[in-house]
Amino acid sequence: MTERKDITCIVCPIGCKMFVTTKGKKIQHIDGCKCKRGAEYATYEALDPRRMLTSSVIVQDGEWPLVSVKSSQPVPKEQVFTVLKEIKKITVTAPVNLGQPILKNVARTGIDIVATKTVKKR
Ligand code: SF4
Repeated sequence: MTERKDITCIVCPIGCKMFVTTKGKKIQHIDGCKCKRGAEYATYEALDPRRMLTSSVIVQDGEWPLVSVKSSQPVPKEQVFTVLKEIKKITVTAPVNLGQPILKNVARTGIDIVATKTVKKR
């Protein structure tokens, strides 16, 4: 079955409106994109949309009550809510180091959640 998706490119500030036609897991046509980077973005967005996730996790005994975290890779869009729910269940104990994995293989995605700042012990 042929499907048409409207996608706004977020690769640069121009924000081209693109129209992507897919059949199954194949791109048939991309309209409205002005460059190769936009075509790549439209292809991923149409066939395998993913998002980088950022959030925060509660820290016990830390100089700050929270540590900011992010996903080590973009998360498949359909798993974003599941991953965010898993992140909300976590509490870590200080010290936490920048780049430290906080949760490995979150929701069996093969993706880790890592700290994006250091929180020292209080
Ligand atoms: S298609 Fe190219 S020019 Fe248009 S918004 Fe995307 S990156 Fe920018």
